[in-house]
Amino acid sequence: MRRAAFRQALAAWIAVMAGTVVHAQPSASTSRPSLSGCQTTQGSVYFDFEGASRSACYVEDERTLSIVVTPEHLPPINPSPWYAFRYSVPKGQKLIVNVRYIGARHRYAPQWRGSGDLSAFSVKVAHDKEAVSITLPPGEGVVSGQPLVTSSHYDQLLGQLAKSGRGSRLILGRSHDGRPIEAVRLGNADAPRLVVLLGRQHPPEVTGAMAMDAFSLTIARLVSSGAIDGKQFQFLIVPLLNPDGVARGHWRANLGGVDLNRDWGIFNQPETRAVNHWLSLLPAQVRPVLMLDFHSTNRNLFYVQGGKAGAQGKAFLATWLGGKENAFAGYPFKIEPRDANAGSGTTKNWFNATYGIPAYTYEVDDDSDPVAVRAAAEALAQNLIPSLFFALKE
Ligand SMILES: [Zn+2]
Repeated sequence: MRRAAFRQALAAWIAVMAGTVVHAQPSASTSRPSLSGCQTTQGSVYFDFEGASRSACYVEDERTLSIVVTPEHLPPINPSPWYAFRYSVPKGQKLIVNVRYIGARHRYAPQWRGSGDLSAFSVKVAHDKEAVSITLPPGEGVVSGQPLVTSSHYDQLLGQLAKSGRGSRLILGRSHDGRPIEAVRLGNADAPRLVVLLGRQHPPEVTGAMAMDAFSLTIARLVSSGAIDGKQFQFLIVPLLNPDGVARGHWRANLGGVDLNRDWGIFNQPETRAVNHWLSLLPAQVRPVLMLDFHSTNRNLFYVQGGKAGAQGKAFLATWLGGKENAFAGYPFKIEPRDANAGSGTTKNWFNATYGIPAYTYEVDDDSDPVAVRAAAEALAQNLIPSLFFALKE
């Protein structure tokens, strides 16, 4: 699109207060943007489901729609545009959807789920990476930046964790929207050593969520089989810490417009506060010994403590991850020691500073092979407690 037309469309989008479905106007080459969806004789797109992106749609011509995906606030706090829309294209037709990013570049390759001919689905990323053009086949489907993993998935996961790990399901608090911040606790409530697993602070980071699913389910099996002693170790598993952001298709923040991974220690947001509140009520003999926070980025890596790691932290790192960088087929990773400034608000830094424990960010490549992600996560979960046990004796 020409720059002037784009600016005009953006200005119009900002002026739109509420969405109505836009229909192609025979007299107009571009229509007024709509927040709910748009349609022509060649097809339609809508944003009316959980996880759909915050987008405005307008009609360029009968066979071309444009979607402007926007961050939850401007300027974007992280250039990782999330998009998700559903579409319908009549038999014999073909629809082109141009996804345009505001202040950001293409990050997530489109995932397609739907009926019709997959070979007719094609994707072209613009040279400047500020847009992607998607050709859709006849039929119905959903296109999204990563697989849609929303509240129903977590409802099932939490049920499965509680059942297979013989744990209990907890509500730690509520989000701005009133959604529950749910957790599962595995092991005995008075087991002295607590491992905290957190996920989905950043809504689009689905590969990290896949790793966390496999990791947590493995821990649950090990607890119920007795391979992990539930009298010694307990786990708090919070797989969906930003339910509003996930449901509303945010790029990064919660509904308070805050990056939750900058709110630790500050605790201005209900989601982080809920976890901190639960931790503050722990009996005196129960202490966190490890925290893992699952995310996604453009490669597989672990952010770990640098000079701030104590002797036990160093022993744990060496035993759990050291030398394993190429041990998992299809899942090479790097270990990046990084001490944050005090008060940075990151989960990793807060847990380390507050409890003096290893606190790692488990980052999974956006484009990782899901089978390899799961296999590596399962193997790492298997080795977690033996490594911790060894380190705690140091
Ligand atoms: Zn992240």
